[in-house]
Amino acid sequence: MAPVQVLSKPQALAALELAKSSLGLRPGDCVMCAVYERSRSDRVLENAEGVVVLDRFGSRHGHLLVISRAHLEGSGELGWERYAALQRLAFEATLALEATLDPARVFVAALGSSEPIATSYPHYHIHVVPIARHDDDARPARVFSWSAGIVQYDEDERRELIGRLKQAHRERELVL
Ligand SMILES: [Zn+2]
Repeated sequence: MAPVQVLSKPQALAALELAKSSLGLRPGDCVMCAVYERSRSDRVLENAEGVVVLDRFGSRHGHLLVISRAHLEGSGELGWERYAALQRLAFEATLALEATLDPARVFVAALGSSEPIATSYPHYHIHVVPIARHDDDARPARVFSWSAGIVQYDEDERRELIGRLKQAHRERELVL
């Protein structure tokens, strides 16, 4: 695997502002809605209720996001059918990561701030994060924050990783 390039938190915040302006977002616009709408080339998996994309601001190599297609914020708003469909994507994403990156563990979490802050969004999404090793770096408080920086991919790495994850998913479908 190529060495992972990591941006520090201040660099990541600057890159995030740049990404938001390149998405044409105005203050108050939902970042997750914009990521979903522009996600076609980033999609690893999808179903009727959501998509799985490679997080361009992920904390670990292979960090994926399950994003609800509809702008809904809480589990109650989603309802069970939609919630279950999104969890199904988290399950499939976990298996694709396990087959592709052979991580020590895959962490799955629905986080999101109810208040608008720079690095978190209320639009329902699930983090699916492969953990390479069980060490101090695998503490959830570190994994689910930008304190250790974010992973950057160049275009070739990004496309290659997405292709491998899709392939792993297709191969799993064949053995179901
Ligand atoms: Zn939204």
